[in-house]
Amino acid sequence: MYNPKSLRAEEFIDDAEVEATLEYARDNRTNRQLISSIIDKAAECKGLSHREAAVLLECELDDENERMFKLAEKIKQELYGNRIVLFAPLYLSNYCINHCVYCPYHVTNRHIPRKKLTQDEIRAEVIALQDIGHKRLALETGEDPVNNPIEYVLESIKTIYSIKHKNGAIRRVNVNIAATTVENYRKLKDAGIGTYILFQETYNKRAYQELHPCGPKADYAYHTEAMDRAMEGGIDDVGCGVLFGLALYRYDFVGLLMHAEHLEAVHGVGPHTISVPRIRPADDIDPHTFSNAVPDETFNKLVACIRLAVPYTGMICSTRESVAVRRRVLELGVSQISGGSRTSVGGYQTEERQDETAQFDVNDQRSLDEVVRWLMQLGYVPSFCTACYRAGRTGDRFMSLCKSGQIKNCCLPNALMTLKEYLEDYAAPETKAIGERLIQENLKDILSPSVRKIAEQHLADMANGSRDFRF
Ligand code: SF4
Repeated sequence: MYNPKSLRAEEFIDDAEVEATLEYARDNRTNRQLISSIIDKAAECKGLSHREAAVLLECELDDENERMFKLAEKIKQELYGNRIVLFAPLYLSNYCINHCVYCPYHVTNRHIPRKKLTQDEIRAEVIALQDIGHKRLALETGEDPVNNPIEYVLESIKTIYSIKHKNGAIRRVNVNIAATTVENYRKLKDAGIGTYILFQETYNKRAYQELHPCGPKADYAYHTEAMDRAMEGGIDDVGCGVLFGLALYRYDFVGLLMHAEHLEAVHGVGPHTISVPRIRPADDIDPHTFSNAVPDETFNKLVACIRLAVPYTGMICSTRESVAVRRRVLELGVSQISGGSRTSVGGYQTEERQDETAQFDVNDQRSLDEVVRWLMQLGYVPSFCTACYRAGRTGDRFMSLCKSGQIKNCCLPNALMTLKEYLEDYAAPETKAIGERLIQENLKDILSPSVRKIAEQHLADMANGSRDFRF
């Protein structure tokens, strides 16, 4: 029985409600009046219900689809401006006791080398990441209470935050580890993590059980209710996502939005981010064995519809996607991307872009500097800012900042200053030249004259070698 306020997974992701929503969407896929009214509602930036969003995803009217894409671009531009936040994944360990059939780290993969970084190796990885300019990481580990206990993750976070190499510093550590207990979430919160990220993979319980035949992750309810436990443990910012291509994308789209509605109904704040990974080849994994692949056109529409349904939720696209796809989804709604990523354990210290411990094949293989330059050539401001998290602007406080339009006086100057820091410390000469021009062009968009003046002063100080500021 559907109940968004329930704490039971089967009630807030009620299968009958998802199926009824999909039927309603199918029945209305050419209902011009309804579709048009939903797009009008989306234009108010107040979000859409899962049923309304499902109708848009199913819409078969070309002109309304066109309107929808245009509106997604407009909302993206109005709420997020031209800032794009950059981050990198850091794989700590590929030991795992689960059997996710789409992941090469599954326990029955006997030929993948198993690796777990020591604290010294983490230090070396972090220095390598700092040396290319990263400030924000997403930690990744398999689930293995013996090899990767929570104490290991906590110690690793402490190590990462402690490393100051030249002008480098990792200022925000997001964590993508298996569903755990309230007590462990509290420990992660106390360790100073940014966002807790957990992908649902699929919301369809039957498909979920087939994809996770054994191991702790096989428990659909425990996994689906993880964000509630994270929030109970004090973590305000949670990041949701599904792995598109595993089950049927329509079902997962509706499930994702129902999950967001549930978090909002129970905790007063929806997910901080939504990630949109699609399945990729990897050791032992052939994506063609999954028959529900999502073509690029559909993928773009998913991103646009998510942008309309949850306008204030950041969207993340990783290097799983090609340059061309990343370019399009940046226009439609994505606000954060990874760059220069290595998806293997210890990958940042090796010359190889891809080694045998990789979780998936990286599609966009460019360096961080190439990604930064590319973003700027497209008119975006690459941002390395992590200020919100350290200033306590998380959860609903971040949302209200977004909703009041104050982002242009807060995030834009921070983005410009952290970009300047990147240009001074890490950029290639060509990247630096483009960036300096871009900063000057964007300073005028800071709304408050006094904030602009402070930003200009900081920029001048930075050019003279000062790093006396906190983001
Ligand atoms: S997806 Fe995560 S839990 Fe599943 S096998 Fe891979 S590392 Fe383990």
